[in-house]
Amino acid sequence: MLSTMQDEPLSLATVLRHAMTQKADSEVSTWTGSGMRRMTFGELGLQAGRLANALRGLGVGQTDRVGTFMWNNNEHLVAYNAIPAMGSVLHALNIRLFPEQLTFVANHAEDKVVIVDGSLLPLFGPLLPGLTSVKHVIVANGDASALEAPAGVEVHPYDELLAAQSEEFDFPVVDERMAAAMCYTSGTTGEPKGVAYSHRSSVLHSMQVCTADGMSLSQRDDVLTIVPMFHANAWGIPYAALMCGASLLMPDRFLQPEPVLEMMAVEKPTFAAAVPTIWTGVLGQLSAKPQDISHLRQVIVGGSAVPPALMKAFDEQHHVPILHAWGMTETSPLGSVAHPPAKATDEEAWSYRISQGQFGPAVQARLIDDDGNVVPKDGKSLGELEVKGPWIAGSYYSPDGRPVEPEKFHDGWLRTGDVGKITANGFLTLVDRSKDVIKSGGEWISSVDLENAVMSHPDVLEAAVIGVPDPSWDERPLVAVVLKEGASSDAEALRASLSDRFAKWQLPEHWAFIAEVPKTSVGKFDKKVIRAQHAAGELEVVELEGPRSH
Ligand code: ADP
Repeated sequence: MLSTMQDEPLSLATVLRHAMTQKADSEVSTWTGSGMRRMTFGELGLQAGRLANALRGLGVGQTDRVGTFMWNNNEHLVAYNAIPAMGSVLHALNIRLFPEQLTFVANHAEDKVVIVDGSLLPLFGPLLPGLTSVKHVIVANGDASALEAPAGVEVHPYDELLAAQSEEFDFPVVDERMAAAMCYTSGTTGEPKGVAYSHRSSVLHSMQVCTADGMSLSQRDDVLTIVPMFHANAWGIPYAALMCGASLLMPDRFLQPEPVLEMMAVEKPTFAAAVPTIWTGVLGQLSAKPQDISHLRQVIVGGSAVPPALMKAFDEQHHVPILHAWGMTETSPLGSVAHPPAKATDEEAWSYRISQGQFGPAVQARLIDDDGNVVPKDGKSLGELEVKGPWIAGSYYSPDGRPVEPEKFHDGWLRTGDVGKITANGFLTLVDRSKDVIKSGGEWISSVDLENAVMSHPDVLEAAVIGVPDPSWDERPLVAVVLKEGASSDAEALRASLSDRFAKWQLPEHWAFIAEVPKTSVGKFDKKVIRAQHAAGELEVVELEGPRSH
């Protein structure tokens, strides 16, 4: 029997209309280094109308891709809303990719127009001649005349272009399955791959972000959105904020711990989102220059595993709870969130909080072993995580219809490449990325467990662990450590500090003391680079005695 309900498509245009009328007083504001540029959601809606008219005037039609090459700021949020609402496809370009990767993704997505922040022209200008589908560039927050355009490309100043437009735009009704926005994976483990989110997936995902056991975003929040809008759509926060009326605080290009804390002192956000490395930096800055940050009722952290020592420091020193979440570009990205069950004891609550969390009601998860069998959710059995749901990718974008990495999809499930275990009540604990697990003498060592343990040492700022080839054991762990300023622990002492938490054969014998852990374009530890440095003999390695047996 068919339902009797209306078949109204889910649409980001509906979300925008809601925000600009019913949440008209909520704001998006951008830090300028000394103060805020503010815009209400009411004004944002009018600017979105003007931008949609401008893009239409430049020949952008439904399903055409419009790139953004921007920091998190007001103009980026206008583009985020105008482009999908007019039926076109937003493509937030990751400004930190290598030039070849940027050229690859912009050409692969066939971006027709790119909106660029003026401060990024020195990065964008040299790319432009290689961007084969781009016909128009719109320069926001800067001097458009500074951009030299190749033949066939027109450059427009954002403010002038928008000032000449009507704010009225009749946003079309589009099929909810059509693409609204696309993001490319940041290429941590390979070539960037395109994920095209639909209106349907974006609206459903935003609802999940707003639920109490999702990210619990609401109109009572001021959200410091440090996670870049090009990294998995800033974890879905922008659309969710428009949906619930949460105000957004955008850091623009001021992403170092010092300016972030200055902005916090003025704006007192209630909520913030960023990868662990940002919070490690903020914590360091706070110990050098104390500041009350207890206005933060919650900090959502994901993208890589949150070191428990970081979570503890935020709890104990700053009374700010970190909420751990797991996701991927391919999962929109919210997959699981670590809210402890209501009846958990304090001790249980801690182990739930440091896990990758529980899947939302619309996301199904299973674990698959090396033979392709589903393993039980018993909190012990390990397997590769596969997920399925209305905001999980079912394929990668392919301009010519030829499947891109079809092996990542398995019977309608997405293979995540993450290895972990799941409890009977659905809490995920990731052990590692399958490519990062260290295979020593037929057994596994979790690089993440070792990293977390080394990083809990008071002398250590950061630590990344890779597997290096070993004639007896196949692979053995190498720890690349960054010591805190003035600290003097050596390899022996650091290894000794691990001995109560790991079996003898798991204790690493290769240690390299480095100045900084290399980071990917989205701020994760870049183990590819450490592996390459090691292979090229560029790391100075302290060698301790290895295991005699397993
Ligand atoms: P990329 O794959 O290029 O790094 P993504 O941001 O999409 O870009 O990365 C998703 C991956 O990040 C996941 O598959 C997982 O390995 C890792 N990840 C995300 N969140 C967490 C988390 N909370 N704990 C551990 N790993 C995480």
